[in-house]
Amino acid sequence: MPELPEVETVRRGLEEHLIGKCFAEVSVTGRRTVRRQAAAELVASLEGRRVEAVRRKGKFIAVILDDARVLVIHLRMSGQLLWVEDAEEVSAPPLRPHTHVVARLGDRSELRFVDPRTFGEWYVVSDVGSDGLPADFSNLGPDPLLDGLSAEILRQRLAGRRVPLKAALTDQRVVAGIGSIYADEICFASRIRPDRQTHSLTPVEIGRLSRSTKRLLHSAVALGGSSLRDMSYRDVMGDAGSYQLHHKVYDRLGQRCLRCGTIVSRVRFGARVAYCCEGCQH
Ligand SMILES: [Zn+2]
Repeated sequence: MPELPEVETVRRGLEEHLIGKCFAEVSVTGRRTVRRQAAAELVASLEGRRVEAVRRKGKFIAVILDDARVLVIHLRMSGQLLWVEDAEEVSAPPLRPHTHVVARLGDRSELRFVDPRTFGEWYVVSDVGSDGLPADFSNLGPDPLLDGLSAEILRQRLAGRRVPLKAALTDQRVVAGIGSIYADEICFASRIRPDRQTHSLTPVEIGRLSRSTKRLLHSAVALGGSSLRDMSYRDVMGDAGSYQLHHKVYDRLGQRCLRCGTIVSRVRFGARVAYCCEGCQH
């Protein structure tokens, strides 16, 4: 599932191509993609509107329209946004299977939403907060890249919770944008087991978590995010990211830990699993 670095990479691509352009014709063919409102309502909200900005919070993309409403796109498991420079050109790429939304812009370019597993979502919201983002984004925790994540803030976010660390890091109300891959990598970088109970974390450990979260997410954005073997994540030009080459534990079951040489294992806690080095994560 695309997480903060992958969604940020997609956002940057959209920012480059969408700003200042108008939605000319939008067609929704996926049954599940638009489900919070009627597809016709979404189409009517978009057609004729110009894109003012493309923002993000956590894993949500927020396309700011010129009437101050916001098109929210959530890629979920397998959603991809693909950019086509000139959709009327004979050499334009054909529609891929599982294309659920096609948004034609006024200059003949096209934004296509491909989503084989159909968990992804598009919706337009009018209820916008003073920051210009959808009001219900206030339910999300801080986004480590946009809002920072100091040790003190992280301590406050974790206070009163008694859950395994990975469950807290991937809870979007605690911190926005982290999923399974980066949670495992952040725990490794912080030398803390993903199944450690949050109330047992020391101030020094919370400091390590705060620093490694920001450092790791920045590095992953710089490399265009992580594309796993299923290759479901691509940027808007269809290119893969390369941060997966820098994963230390995620998807490295049975390989040696790069820090201490112990074999990387997969630990289970409740319904969850996490990749972990039991030699150097405590
Ligand atoms: Zn190790």
